[in-house]
Amino acid sequence: MKITVDRNLCDGNGVCMGIAPDVFDIDDDLTLHIADEIPDDPEVHAQVRQSVTSCPVLALTLVE
Ligand code: SF4
Repeated sequence: MKITVDRNLCDGNGVCMGIAPDVFDIDDDLTLHIADEIPDDPEVHAQVRQSVTSCPVLALTLVE
């Protein structure tokens, strides 16, 4: 599982971090950081999928 973000779209609102805090982090500059390694955990994978569909600006893309 790999995730990409379109940084032209992401506004740092943190919705994804709220859903999958082990994977997404927003720093003080509202820059999104994505974990290098996505935990091999079905629950985390489900959180990631929900984050992708919940991003208000559809900035996230999932590469399975
Ligand atoms: S939910 Fe979308 S816009 Fe918000 S921080 Fe995450 S990737 Fe960026």
